[in-house]
Amino acid sequence: EMQAGGETTRTTCPYCGVGCGVIATVAGDGAVTVKGDPEHPANFGRLCSKGSALAETIDLEGRVLFPEILGRQADWDEALDLVAEKFSKTIAEHGPDSVAFYVSGQLLTEDYYVANKLMKGSIGSANIDTNSRLCMSSSVAGHRRAFGSDTVPGTYEDIELADLVILTGSNLAWCHPVIYQRLAAAKAARPGMKIVVIDPRRTMTCDIADLHLGIRPDGDVALFMGLLAHLAQSPAIDQNYIAAHTQGFGEAFAAAAALSFTELMERTGLPAMQLREFFHLFETTEKVVTCYSQGVNQSASGTDKVNAIINCHLATGRIGRPGTGPFSLTGQPNAMGGREVGGLANMLAAHMAIESAEDRDRVQRFWASPRIAEKPGLKAVDMFRAVADGRIKALWIMATNPVVSMPDADAVEAAIKACPFVVVSDILRDTDTARHAHVLLPSVGWGEKDGTVTNSERRISRQRWFLSAPGEAKADWWQMAEVGQRMGFDGFVYKSAAEIFAEHAALSAFENEGSRDFDIGAFVGLGEEGYDALTPFQWPAPLEQPIVGRDSDKRFFADGGFYHPDRKARFVPVQAPATDRTNEQYPLTLNTGRIRDHWHTMTRTAKSARLSGHIAEPFAELHPRDAMELGIRGAGLVELESPHGTAIVRALVTERQARGNVFVPMHWNDQFAAKARIDALVAPVTDPFSGQPASKNVAIAARPF
Ligand code: SF4
Repeated sequence: EMQAGGETTRTTCPYCGVGCGVIATVAGDGAVTVKGDPEHPANFGRLCSKGSALAETIDLEGRVLFPEILGRQADWDEALDLVAEKFSKTIAEHGPDSVAFYVSGQLLTEDYYVANKLMKGSIGSANIDTNSRLCMSSSVAGHRRAFGSDTVPGTYEDIELADLVILTGSNLAWCHPVIYQRLAAAKAARPGMKIVVIDPRRTMTCDIADLHLGIRPDGDVALFMGLLAHLAQSPAIDQNYIAAHTQGFGEAFAAAAALSFTELMERTGLPAMQLREFFHLFETTEKVVTCYSQGVNQSASGTDKVNAIINCHLATGRIGRPGTGPFSLTGQPNAMGGREVGGLANMLAAHMAIESAEDRDRVQRFWASPRIAEKPGLKAVDMFRAVADGRIKALWIMATNPVVSMPDADAVEAAIKACPFVVVSDILRDTDTARHAHVLLPSVGWGEKDGTVTNSERRISRQRWFLSAPGEAKADWWQMAEVGQRMGFDGFVYKSAAEIFAEHAALSAFENEGSRDFDIGAFVGLGEEGYDALTPFQWPAPLEQPIVGRDSDKRFFADGGFYHPDRKARFVPVQAPATDRTNEQYPLTLNTGRIRDHWHTMTRTAKSARLSGHIAEPFAELHPRDAMELGIRGAGLVELESPHGTAIVRALVTERQARGNVFVPMHWNDQFAAKARIDALVAPVTDPFSGQPASKNVAIAARPF
């Protein structure tokens, strides 16, 4: 598309799960500008600071430009042959479970599809997990327990239509800024709308809140149990809905009612008046959307938190109608697309279950693959444990930097270092992880790669290339398809991302008579041109040839039909766990998270001076009383310690922080600051259902440095 002043391309922002549409323009002199796409239904032209600075992050400094073997330049054939040979040999000697892929929510759906097919179909192991495990796997587990499928029922429009929006474990203003902008605009237009923020910290999101509940870390299960017990005794309870569309209310209610009000106050740390105010608001407001993000998911009780929330929506029938419902806000640009193709170790493909023999058979027949993984594979934390103890001997890491981002990061680094064969596919040459690669493969980055992503509201959008691949960089799907062929497997000849998308769409519809939620079979016949022209669409997609640019009218759960065999949703009885992990030696609770202008381990955002100008260095937010007692001065350096590691950062003394809690951003690593890899302190504690690490409740000590 030519316009005065340059060539423009419609694509999608690569940062967060909001999935904003952007228009990139390449001027005659090669200069790139990026602006919001006014026609994209996620953002209608809006962008946040990260999206607006995209053009500043695409220079070639630091890029891997050709394959490398042990630090020396190699050609593609040599590198791919070596990867194929090492993986084949390891599998032949030690079985399929001796190899693993650790991939990323930064991958496009087509990359994810090929990775999943290669590992679960051809190799026959399910040892493929993703950094999405650290992001929203508790939501997946909670959805599957409640709905029988990993279905996010809501849309961004529901948030705007609600009369009460509850944000729990979500610093929306910084982490999903464009949804925050939409919410703030909706509230400005309709001031009667109420917003409740549930967070141990007083974050920027509280600026638009009518009520901030400064909950104890991980007090959410207790809070929503208390709410369920309250609703059950109130006119808000919808007995007809419960009887017609759900199962298990009795047990869930009994568990909730067993929690006394005193215990509720104790577990949540909230005064009775605030609890009553919150319960009253929920009880008396028909249109409620409960948004939740990493404060819910990244927890040892993450899955129970999700179900405690969903229980309250089911009990009131507030789901499946405009302006209602539980709503998981995904962190990454394509966490959802990864889920759709089964990119997690415990999923199969197209929302089919790896535990189901019927589903396994169906996928294997579709792929015509020599085998199919028989059981779930190792989830991220366990995967790196298996690397550490030698069970996994060949590892391929794609588009992620686990040496900085995994809990117990020092142990993860040691494991990768000791692994006999490590392949890293990345755009940057010198990340903390890439440094340990035996084979380093150059990937194409945003603006160069081509495919689809799915945002938090199930909207599938195209990422399109507008810059040519630098050096010899190649798509991740191409790298894996080449290795698949070289390992002797059929089914890995793809000409383009469009072909892979068509196969993915066909699998989603294969022998699927409405038995699962994800079906984009109508898009099978798009062809290259149709794929190029594909406009953003939401699933459930129309089942006939799609009308481009229009969503289907179907709304999940509108008819009360869920995806368990009896079509009924499940209440899940949950228990309120004791959440305090501190002790005499480690008396403070560490909570990690994002800041507004950086993304993940800063591999891209650090390139923009503007983004680095918002907050220039890593910090620890401490309450003034804690700081005083510990002898820590504002802006002085503070040393943080857990049994797993240490970090040294700047003290930021503020009353936004609750007593006994310390917040530290997760982005920095030792490249940018003396000792700031905060995940080195995070204990590898995980949720028993989802395997998601508890990165927001870690016992630490702090002292002046
Ligand atoms: Fe990109 Fe997310 Fe910002 Fe939108 S809100 S511009 S998707 S980082």
